[in-house]
Amino acid sequence: MDGLMMDYQLTLPAMMRRAETFFARKEIVTRLPDGRFHRYTYADFARRAKKLAVALKQLGIRPGDRVATLCWNHHQHLEAYFGIPAIGAVLHTLNVRLHPDDLAYIVNHAEDRLLLIDQSMLPLLEAFRSRVNLERVVVISEDGEAPEGMLEYEDLLQAADESAFHNSDLDERQAAAMCYTSGTTGKPKGVVYSHRALVLHSMLSAMVDTLALCESDVIFPVVPMFHANAWGLPFTAVLVGAKLVFPGPHLDAGTLLEAMEAERVTLTAGVPTIWLGVLQTLDERPRAYDLSSLRGLVVGGSAAPKALIQGFQERHGLKVIHAWGMTEMTPLGTVANLTSELRQAPADVQLDYRAKQGLPVPFVEIRARGDRGIVPWDGQSMGELEVRGPCVARAYYNAPEAADRFTEDGWFRTGDIVTIESHGYIEIHDRSKDVIKSGGEWISSVALENALMSHPAVAEAAVIAVPHPKWQERPLAVVVLKEGHTVTAEELRAHLRPHFPKWWLPDAIAFVEAIPKTSVGKFRKSALRQQFREYRISADGETSEDE
Ligand code: ADP
Repeated sequence: MDGLMMDYQLTLPAMMRRAETFFARKEIVTRLPDGRFHRYTYADFARRAKKLAVALKQLGIRPGDRVATLCWNHHQHLEAYFGIPAIGAVLHTLNVRLHPDDLAYIVNHAEDRLLLIDQSMLPLLEAFRSRVNLERVVVISEDGEAPEGMLEYEDLLQAADESAFHNSDLDERQAAAMCYTSGTTGKPKGVVYSHRALVLHSMLSAMVDTLALCESDVIFPVVPMFHANAWGLPFTAVLVGAKLVFPGPHLDAGTLLEAMEAERVTLTAGVPTIWLGVLQTLDERPRAYDLSSLRGLVVGGSAAPKALIQGFQERHGLKVIHAWGMTEMTPLGTVANLTSELRQAPADVQLDYRAKQGLPVPFVEIRARGDRGIVPWDGQSMGELEVRGPCVARAYYNAPEAADRFTEDGWFRTGDIVTIESHGYIEIHDRSKDVIKSGGEWISSVALENALMSHPAVAEAAVIAVPHPKWQERPLAVVVLKEGHTVTAEELRAHLRPHFPKWWLPDAIAFVEAIPKTSVGKFRKSALRQQFREYRISADGETSEDE
């Protein structure tokens, strides 16, 4: 017997209609490159998104065509988030921090037809334009000018007639957006989101036990809109009608803190490197900013060090919400909220759980596979995490070579090495290629990094594997000290000793000025491995650097 419910399609235009109908006067604020704030309402946003849709159609963009963006976080980018998918075309956000060679590869692979670009990114485009087949380029310009042969965004919108916008019959399963993984692991691969996945993801992100987003929130996505759709926050904000604040191009701690204070931000999100900088600024100037409106900082993309969670909480009364996800998961996978049972636990146990990656969000199923099959949920047995759900990719775009990332029974292999404890909380110990394999046992680089970063003298720490004649691999810690601090390798080892088995302790600790970062602000361990490729640890633990 069939259910007798309507076959209502879950699409992005339906979310935008709700926002313009019920939250027309809510504000969307953008920090402009010159530091001023641009503000308008959801009514303005919806009008302009529709005009963009009309204009794109007039330019010959058809359902299924890819329209790329090369932009920071701002209101025009939000218009593209909704205007492009509204006509059945596919929003393709390009990462502005990628090398031109990678951008050329990605634009060609996705076969992007049109590009929306920030004026400040034009030199970057110049570096790869001749290698791609973009038919048109639309410039979001600060001074109303566009180079010859390109269109100007405001001119385009002005010429478009909003009344020509018709809600097309979109199928919820059709593509709405695509993102390429930033290539931390191999060649960039395209993930294609359906309308349905984006709508479901918005709903599950908003749930109280996920990020608890609601109409009265003021959401400040610091994570770039080209990094897994700013973790879906712009979509979720529109669904619930929350005020949005976009940081624009300046992401230094002071500028971010200023915006959070001025706009009374309630929830923000970004990678740990951003928040490490913000915490340092707050520590230096504890009373300089009024952050009393802020109820949470979502930290994800890499493991949130325990010291970061503790530092915000204890020194500034601010709550870190630790989350794990992947581009392939739209992207939220787990959130480290505490269940009512865990809220009764002693403070140190609560902190331990908040520093894990957390419980899966609704409709994300998990299991972990070790060398001998699926591992028990005992908090000890490590395995590669596999997931499935309605917001999880079932394939990469035109990438048959990556078919082995999916299991025969339809799960996605995350490449993350985890333990799962009895409640179902996961803890990420490493990416499979970063885990240190010492004498047949695995050492978690993430756990060592966390512990090192809890030392008051340490600003950043990354741990990598180096070859070892007896144990195959041993850990090498690469450490950046906070300005004006000193500490010896032996002192750092003493700091780690109480928390780890002896054989986990790094054999060597190298002090450096900076750790190389990826385009989305994660430690670039491949570059570190390259940098320290000549590092050798001898069987008796002596270290040397043979050139
Ligand atoms: P990329 O694959 O290019 O790095 P993603 O941003 O999609 O792009 O990265 C997803 C990966 O980031 C995850 O597989 C995981 O290894 C890591 N990650 C994300 N969030 C966390 C977290 N909270 N703790 C540890 N690792 C994380």
